[in-house]
Amino acid sequence: MIHDPREEILERVFALGEEGDATVAGLEAMLPDFNVRDEIAKLVASKHLVNEGDRLLLTAEGEEIARLVVRRNRLAERLLADLFDLRGEVMEAGACAFEHALSPEVTASVCTFLGHPPLCPHQKPIPQGECCTSAAREMRPLVTPLPDLDIGNAGRIVFIAPKYIDRLNRLSSLGVIAGSVVRLRQRRPACVIEFGETSLALDPEIAREIFVKRVDAG
Ligand SMILES: [Zn+2]
Ligand SMILES: [Zn+2]
Repeated sequence: MIHDPREEILERVFALGEEGDATVAGLEAMLPDFNVRDEIAKLVASKHLVNEGDRLLLTAEGEEIARLVVRRNRLAERLLADLFDLRGEVMEAGACAFEHALSPEVTASVCTFLGHPPLCPHQKPIPQGECCTSAAREMRPLVTPLPDLDIGNAGRIVFIAPKYIDRLNRLSSLGVIAGSVVRLRQRRPACVIEFGETSLALDPEIAREIFVKRVDAG
């Protein structure tokens, strides 16, 4: 699936450069579906790439774009892997489609949501964005798995991402649904939450599938 050929090529040059040399032949092997040489010629003309024989190097401008694309791609991989337990090709194809849909604002909130992760699921570095370094950075992600709340603190359930759908049905029959505010009372051995007049013990694994947005401590 090819989206923006220019972004795809810059992204690949960046990734190949991490492993060693990015070459025209290497890119042709990765992107058999389109005319790599033509696209490279355009990127050289627009000063995003330089050619050293068969070797390709990013210019500063090319690298700026490539870093953003690689960042979106690796954050999308993290999101799909961490949240939906996707792996391998399903995760990669999803991330590849996803990366083009992420606006800068959404990218920053995904990064913050994931806690500014340093590595993608393939253990490749995720290029940092402003959200990762700025002084105003939220120290903790706004949305976290329920057990990551501090004991005694409350969170509003944003979504539930259960491994098994019957878990979702069971939770909603107990009133644990998106929008409810729950307070964490205990983490182990069972995760104990309180909402309204009810308190409920959850299996810690299930509790980690419930994502909450922190509300004021109380
Ligand atoms: Zn990766
Ligand atoms: Zn970040």
